[in-house]
Amino acid sequence: SPRVGVLALQGDVREHARVLADLGADVVLVRRPAELAGVDGLVLPGGESSVIDKLSRAFGMRDPIRDAIAGGMPVFGTCAGLILLADRILDGIPGQESFGGLDITVRRNAFGGQVESFETDLDVPVLGAPAVRAAFIRAPVVEESGPDVEVLAALADDRIVAVRRGPVMGTSFHPETAGETRFHALFLESVRTRA
Ligand code: GLN
Repeated sequence: SPRVGVLALQGDVREHARVLADLGADVVLVRRPAELAGVDGLVLPGGESSVIDKLSRAFGMRDPIRDAIAGGMPVFGTCAGLILLADRILDGIPGQESFGGLDITVRRNAFGGQVESFETDLDVPVLGAPAVRAAFIRAPVVEESGPDVEVLAALADDRIVAVRRGPVMGTSFHPETAGETRFHALFLESVRTRA
């Protein structure tokens, strides 16, 4: 079974680990470069992207993760994880950085005010039926995406909320909290293909 990591510095690590384990993956909680070196793919959880960014630098994880992504390691990021995969961040905290890997611009906390958090049914053609029950929690949106980036899902108002570039995939929402497993299955497929 594929050996995959969940970056375990902050955020909803447990929810991702559970979905991956249920799908038969061998799951490693990754906090150190040596742990990263032992996995064939990595999930970046939801949480607070600026905190995960700071902790990744404090733990010496920033450059190893950047290098692994540049080297073609499959990665799946949700919400804060999507922000960490974006080459460009709008409304970040001062000095906030990302690992990069997706030629996109994301805006943090893009759903302001009273509708910061909501759930909706989302059509994701690459997953087929049924629609994805998607939980948006202080979620980002993708405001620009480059020509190599595939749009996997958008809201009714056309705002982009799921993207992929080869083995690098990200969603604005949290499939892991709502019993949705198909994105993780897609991620595991790209890990198997590459391993
Ligand atoms: N607003 C958070 C951030 O900027 C993301 C929220 C989430 O991951 N649910 O990182």
